Amino acid sequence: MGAILLPAGTIHDIDKRCRAFFWTGDGRCPFCVRTETTSHMLLHCHSVQPIWSALQALHYDASSCESLEELLTARHPPDKVHSTVLLAIICNIWKRRNAMVFNNLIKLPHLVIERCSNDIALWSHKCGSSAPKALMNDWSIMLTHLARWL
Ligand SMILES: [Zn+2]
Repeated sequence: MGAILLPAGTIHDIDKRCRAFFWTGDGRCPFCVRTETTSHMLLHCHSVQPIWSALQALHYDASSCESLEELLTARHPPDKVHSTVLLAIICNIWKRRNAMVFNNLIKLPHLVIERCSNDIALWSHKCGSSAPKALMNDWSIMLTHLARWL
């Protein structure tokens, strides 16, 4: 398997699954009083801004994207490794949200980025060719260093 490719419809599937399984309670964000939507939870909530600000090398202004689709399809030409790294960030922001909802734990930005680094290193083992694997390992190393500076 190469880097994770997001097939058509995947972004909508993520949003649909979020709506089906992850929204609990009164529909309010666990970090602020706003209505919790996919884009709020993953891109726009003030609680995720330190994470995206630290990751400007990945996307210069992720919080300005209106949706996950805009975030994940912004790169031209499409870049599987870049999409995979973004997916790791999104997954770990979502896990951070669930840690708050279900365990009342606040994971600091450096811990989220450190988890992303670990996931990307793990996922790199699934790369069939050496170039994407090397790029994913580079991202993992960069994120590890970034997490230490936050
Ligand atoms: Zn919020």
